[in-house]
Amino acid sequence: MKYNVFVGGIHIESSTFTPYRSGEKDFFITKGDELLKRYPWIDTYQDKVNFIPIMHARALPGGIVKRSFYDKYLKDFMQVLDLALKQFKLDGFFLDIHGAMSLEGSVDAEGDFICALREKIGPKAPVCASMDLHGNISQTLFDLSTVLTCYRTAPHIDAVQTRERNLTNLLTVLDGRKQGKKIAKAMVSVPILLPGEQTSTEVEPGKSLYAQIPQQLLHKDGVLDTSIWMGFPWADQPRSRAAVCAYGFNQDNTVACAKELAEKFWDYKNDFTFVGPVAPLKEGLQKALESKEKPYFLSDTGDNPGAGGDNDTVIVLKEILNSGAEKNKKIALVSIKDEQTVQELKANQIDDYVHVNLGGKINKALGGPVNTTMQLINRYSDTKAGDSVVLKKDNLSLVVTSNRYQFATEKNFQNAGLGSYQDYDIVIVKIGYLEPDLSRAAKGWTMLLTPGSVNQDLKNLAFDNLTRPLYPFDDGFTPCLDVCVQET
Ligand SMILES: [Zn+2]
Repeated sequence: MKYNVFVGGIHIESSTFTPYRSGEKDFFITKGDELLKRYPWIDTYQDKVNFIPIMHARALPGGIVKRSFYDKYLKDFMQVLDLALKQFKLDGFFLDIHGAMSLEGSVDAEGDFICALREKIGPKAPVCASMDLHGNISQTLFDLSTVLTCYRTAPHIDAVQTRERNLTNLLTVLDGRKQGKKIAKAMVSVPILLPGEQTSTEVEPGKSLYAQIPQQLLHKDGVLDTSIWMGFPWADQPRSRAAVCAYGFNQDNTVACAKELAEKFWDYKNDFTFVGPVAPLKEGLQKALESKEKPYFLSDTGDNPGAGGDNDTVIVLKEILNSGAEKNKKIALVSIKDEQTVQELKANQIDDYVHVNLGGKINKALGGPVNTTMQLINRYSDTKAGDSVVLKKDNLSLVVTSNRYQFATEKNFQNAGLGSYQDYDIVIVKIGYLEPDLSRAAKGWTMLLTPGSVNQDLKNLAFDNLTRPLYPFDDGFTPCLDVCVQET
């Protein structure tokens, strides 16, 4: 007999510090076979599992999700789920979430989602969730789920494997139940909150911390899975903090794993530093201008849409134009979201000189748009970026997109007609740590500590709702690393 595994969820990371609100336009919703394409390993399990796709919504990181969108999505999700429940006996639920959704009127969006799910399916069927390690674990999410797992790498090169592990966890739980075995669940809420730019798993101490996981699974009998969440720092919510969870059939070993990971994490906390060179804007730009190596990458970290930034601040652009850097160096700046400007340029011809009032429209507190004249050199459309244009001023090329978008690969860059990274002295990307493509190309790199909705200077963001004490906001306190233990 095959297990009937229902699959679905909602996946977004959203900052509470941007005025931007994520809604229908930002989400890519899938159902049916289209949804199942997220799981390229699915055929391997066809003998054992009958996959029943419910619904999945995914968006680029953004702002707080609009209640109107969420309520409609939840209603549609429940309707599809109702139909599936009439047709199939539910054996287990594969919940596919990020874990850092902020939602109007909620401080625990994924907790709310799993509550709604449990109301519909009841308390018995296992619900196993795959998450991003930048998600947050609330007590509700831990209580109502059976097993939670998350990525073990940042940058996230193991997203596909993590989702597969979520399925194998679910199958192990289901097989175990047939033999009357119960799963021990252990969770430690770790009072640490750091940005991803300090906690990459490619450098220490993140590397050693995450290396503990395969070691534990190898050496501790009866442990199914252990995971470490770094948490999401740009959401002003009580749940925003790190966590570790362990699951297994051997309760003592499971609890020991959670405790060991949490204690290691706490011991390492002072060693987390930025994973690359950082500098204030002026200093970082100067370093790039003086560099003899090219391309030199600059990350505009405060406006990184990949973490929920506005994606339209023009602080770096203003600095370039003020310094006249574009007259001497070949610079590419990708990208600024400004649908209004893209629309206004629709009537223009390629090569026209156009006056633009560019960017700075989402977060008015950051200085407003740039008023300047540029040359329109390309116009293109992309399914995610939407209608887009490339503008030029002297040796500066700048991409303006209709939608929030991140240039995380060289292919994105080429699609815009910008050619190769190697053609530029300086490439400025709205990003934090460099994704693999960029990192391979970079001959020099600085993360600019720019202001914005995902400012790296966490201590200067207006937090009111974090659960304190919390490192690095508080220091010198004795942490509570008690293990919350449950059995299901
Ligand atoms: Zn992440």
